[in-house]
Amino acid sequence: MSSHKSHGGHQARKRFGQNFLVDPHTISKIVAAVAPKPGDNIVEIGPGQGAITAPILSRCPTLNVVELDRDLIPLLQAQFQGYPDLQIHQGDALCTDFSRFYETGRPLRIIGNLPYNISTPLLFHLLTYSGMVRDMHFMLQKEVVDRLAAMPGDKHYGRLSVMVQYHSQVQPLFRVPPGAFRPAPKVESAIVRIVPYAEPPYPATDIGLLSKLVNACFQQRRKTIRNTLKHLMTEQQLAGLDIDLTLRPETLSVADFVRLSNQMEAFS
Ligand code: SAM
Repeated sequence: MSSHKSHGGHQARKRFGQNFLVDPHTISKIVAAVAPKPGDNIVEIGPGQGAITAPILSRCPTLNVVELDRDLIPLLQAQFQGYPDLQIHQGDALCTDFSRFYETGRPLRIIGNLPYNISTPLLFHLLTYSGMVRDMHFMLQKEVVDRLAAMPGDKHYGRLSVMVQYHSQVQPLFRVPPGAFRPAPKVESAIVRIVPYAEPPYPATDIGLLSKLVNACFQQRRKTIRNTLKHLMTEQQLAGLDIDLTLRPETLSVADFVRLSNQMEAFS
C-alpha cells in the first residue's frame, strides 16, 4: 500500500512521508512548546493538511509554509483564505533557500512535522542557516531525536550528533505514539527543540574540514582514530596531534573533534 485515504479526501502519499497529525492533545503540546507570538518569523516545513498550521496561524498570523505536494496547495489556500499574511510556497524544503525568509532583527523560527524519509539531509541543509535561526521545533522519528541528542559513548552518537551539537543546543521534548497520526507510522516519534548558539562554544577554524573529519571518523566508528587519520595526514603530523590516537571516534566529544580539526587545519 503506498497511499491511505485521509479525512479531507486527499490520498496520503508515502513517498512524501505523509503521516498527518490527528490527535488534538499532541497538536496542543507542540504549539505550547513552540509558544508562537505575534511578530515571530515562523516558517513551517510540510504543512500537509494544516494540523499545526491552523493553531500557529491563530497566534501568529504572518507565516511562511513550504509544501512539496502540489495537490495540497489548493486545499491549504482554501482552508486559510482568511489569512492574507500566510505565504504558501510550493517546493522542496531540501532545495529551499531559507535566507529568503530571514529579516534582520527577526530571526527564523522553523517548525515542522518532518517527512521522515528526508529528515537527516534536511537537518544538514538547515544547519547552513544556523546564524539566521532563533530556534527549530521538529517532529522526527524518535531514533533520529536520540541521534541528535546522543553523547559520546552512546550507541546513537554519530555524525548527526556532532554536527548538530557543534551549532546548537538540542532538547528532546516528548514522545508521540504512532496513534497520533493518520496513517500511523510504524515507528515512535518525538519532538525536539534545536536552538543554534549565537557563537559555537568550540569554534572550528574551518567548518568544511571539521565536517570532512567527522564524516571520515564515523565511516569507521569501531576503528581507532589513528586508523582513520592516517589516510588524511602524514605520520609526522599524526605524531604531533594532541590526542590519544588509540581512542575510537564514538568516544570523542564535540570539543575533541574541533580541537583535532583545528590542529589539522594548522598543518595545511
Ligand atoms: N504538518 C502536517 C501534519 O502534521 O499533519 C503534515 C506532516 S507530514 C509528516 C510531512 C509533510 O511534508 C507532508 O505534507 C509532505 O507532503 C511534506 N513534504 C514531504 N517532502 C517535502 C519536501 N521535500 N519539502 C517540503 N515538504 C515536504
